[in-house]
Amino acid sequence: MTGANKGIGYEIAAGLGALGYRVGVGARDEDRREAAAQKLRGAGVDAFGVPLDVTSDQSVTDAAKLIERQAGRLDVLVNNAGISGPPTGPGWGQDPTMLDLDVVRTVVETNVIGVIRVTNAMLPLLRRSTSPRIVNASSSVGSLTWQADPDIDVGPIMAAYSPTKSYLNAVTVHYARQFAGTNILINAACPGLVATDFNGFYGSRTPKQGAATAIRLATLPDGGPTGSFFNDDGVIPW
Ligand code: NDP
Repeated sequence: MTGANKGIGYEIAAGLGALGYRVGVGARDEDRREAAAQKLRGAGVDAFGVPLDVTSDQSVTDAAKLIERQAGRLDVLVNNAGISGPPTGPGWGQDPTMLDLDVVRTVVETNVIGVIRVTNAMLPLLRRSTSPRIVNASSSVGSLTWQADPDIDVGPIMAAYSPTKSYLNAVTVHYARQFAGTNILINAACPGLVATDFNGFYGSRTPKQGAATAIRLATLPDGGPTGSFFNDDGVIPW
């Protein structure tokens, strides 16, 4: 899974590991990645580190080769890596009114193109599984329906970040249509507002709480929902 060395991703890895999944801990920062893999192994999880930068073709190709060597197939892909965009700090950092082009490019490259790059590279390994599952870490701020409803507080809307999650949701639906007639289920998950580095620990939920929906979607039974968007309470409208 991507972005598994801290925050919500670490707890998704721990949750899947506790269910008996072997976990590839994908992330860029080597020290944090190997520390997370070691901590997971200490908790009884069969975990290994996967050097991964989702913005790099070479890195993603190498990660797919490493997973093929280590496991031969992929049962679950969790596209969790995501950035809110610089600058970071307490609160959400990003100026909500500015669509700074450099920020937009950086956030789209990680949150959207990174997910497509990783999904495409992992598809051959997922197709070797009997019940492949893909979960994309999205956010309610990407729900256009909720953004348009004055009675719903979706959380802080950020100029560059929020549209990347709308785009990611559209990509999720696109893949679901492509996978029609196969056993691959793909869904988007919103973790709620979770206290992590991502938002300067602004959120009220714990990473473990934030991981629950992704874990549920990663372990859906055959014939389960696909091409949908969920949080803890159920389906979120696009
Ligand atoms: P964190 O900042 O705690 O963790 C982000 C993870 O992504 C890290 O493991 C980081 O590792 C990894 N990452 C970032 N960039 C890359 C990259 N280019 N390649 C590979 N890995 C990368 O964030 P959260 O746990 O809070 O967020 C996880 C997901 O949940 C994100 O997609 C976010 O958009 C989403 N989300 C979070 C919410 C919240 O309230 N926290 C609310 C709604 C959605 P490293 O830097 O080592 O690569």
